[in-house]
Amino acid sequence: MAKFGYEDMPFLPGSKWRVHDGNRPQPPVVTPGKTFGEPPSDAVVLFDGTDLSKWRSVRDGGPAGWKVENGYMEVVPGTGDIQTVEEFGDCQLHLEWMAEFPPKGEGQGRSNSGVFLMGRYEIQVLDCYQNTTYPDGITAAVYGQYPPLVNACKPPGEWQTYDIIWIAPRFSDDGKLIRPAYLTVFHNGVVVHYHTPLLGPTGHRILPKYQPHPPVGPLRLQDHGDRVRYRNIWYRPLRGYDGEPEWHPAIYEMASSE
Ligand code: MG
Repeated sequence: MAKFGYEDMPFLPGSKWRVHDGNRPQPPVVTPGKTFGEPPSDAVVLFDGTDLSKWRSVRDGGPAGWKVENGYMEVVPGTGDIQTVEEFGDCQLHLEWMAEFPPKGEGQGRSNSGVFLMGRYEIQVLDCYQNTTYPDGITAAVYGQYPPLVNACKPPGEWQTYDIIWIAPRFSDDGKLIRPAYLTVFHNGVVVHYHTPLLGPTGHRILPKYQPHPPVGPLRLQDHGDRVRYRNIWYRPLRGYDGEPEWHPAIYEMASSE
């Protein structure tokens, strides 16, 4: 019997593990370094600690209901997810978050939140410092798909960083998937996913499946009922080399000519 997760879920494609499989090996724990990332000169700052003017309630499109104080925003449980007014695609994204201290709850119930790229693809936010749950749902997991390579959590009450490189999925005009989303994530400066192809948008207890969507979307933060804090959120749109709009087109020409 698995201590965590579920045993009656389908197998993930190409994997010997099921969705939310509690028997999947737990990522090893590493101790991260101590530096944070200030926005570079070309960054688009989405939250600088002063107000939520660039954010809206997902539920009704009105003002974001989370609290801002002391240079951070904090989830107000029950007010719902918030998302940026601005929509973007391929990007480098930086944000910082803090789990509640003292910690309360366990498993998925300990400082749960989430960072949804394009409003659909979740990097889990959770306090997994000496807290365990199913591996594809721990801190920095691509929820329901990939555990992080390692568990780089700091203790609750300390600021933590995500640095994300996001390559949006591409769809043809008739809605077919041309290329999956690719994701690279550093948690507290430690790489936890690199160039990982996503299987589809995030779900709970389902196999992910792509649905065509626009090439840009909002950044969404999850209200999962816990008072998680965020600060210093910025992104840089990613372009190809030499200012080209497309990312690494030559690689696909090489692959298709073989
Ligand atoms: Mg979450």
